Amino acid sequence: MTREEFRSALKPITDGLFGKQNTRGYKRPKFMVRPLDEMLKELAEIPVEEWYAYAFSREPLNGKFTDEQRQGWMKESLDCGREYAQRIRKEYGTSDPIELAASLSMSISYPEVPDKTDRVLFAEYRIPNKICIYMDAVNKANKLLLDPQVLEVLTVELDICRLLLSHELFHFVEEKYKQEIFTQTEKVRLWSLGFLHNDSIVIALSEIAAMGFAKELMGLSYSPYLMDVFLVYGYSPQEASGLYEEMLELWGKHNKS
Ligand SMILES: [Zn+2]
Repeated sequence: MTREEFRSALKPITDGLFGKQNTRGYKRPKFMVRPLDEMLKELAEIPVEEWYAYAFSREPLNGKFTDEQRQGWMKESLDCGREYAQRIRKEYGTSDPIELAASLSMSISYPEVPDKTDRVLFAEYRIPNKICIYMDAVNKANKLLLDPQVLEVLTVELDICRLLLSHELFHFVEEKYKQEIFTQTEKVRLWSLGFLHNDSIVIALSEIAAMGFAKELMGLSYSPYLMDVFLVYGYSPQEASGLYEEMLELWGKHNKS
């Protein structure tokens, strides 16, 4: 993928930005462009657990769940991510995802952009031990971080590259502990017929836990989900503003109920 293709693939955003989630089948209306620092400031105030409606909005099975289920899973998945971050930090004596990745014999590469055009991602984990961090997106975000107002909200704790790496590292940890980890053992029954049944994992749980894991390792006070707006802003302030409105709307829905 060339840089130009990557840029045009970001409009409209059709994927969960960190993970392999569902595409949305509608064309986004035009949105008013908002100042980045103002959007981030507002998003940083949304309590971490209250991101559940947004977190599940990219989940292919979302229509099958109740809000109560989503809220319960949100909490359990965040706890799962945090616990594994604490466990792995204790085991290897560091919070630095670069050192952790080295200790876990991961191979990390830093290409400019993804080589396939079918998915737009800022970082990617590939079984068994590869992580790619796409630097075009990271460099753009680092430039935005030079704005003191933006930095004030996102704080000096934020290292974009390491945050993306932490998230992907969770997917490796998840693979390693797949027999016991909550995000892989928790399943929903899609159908059953006599002795036959088909159970599925819920992708959103992995993504939520990966955010919880990254938040804990990086020591961030806000939900890493707001990075969707931040990372997209470097490519399209308008798309980022649209995402922001969607996030607030999904949060507001919960507040009213
Ligand atoms: Zn992910």
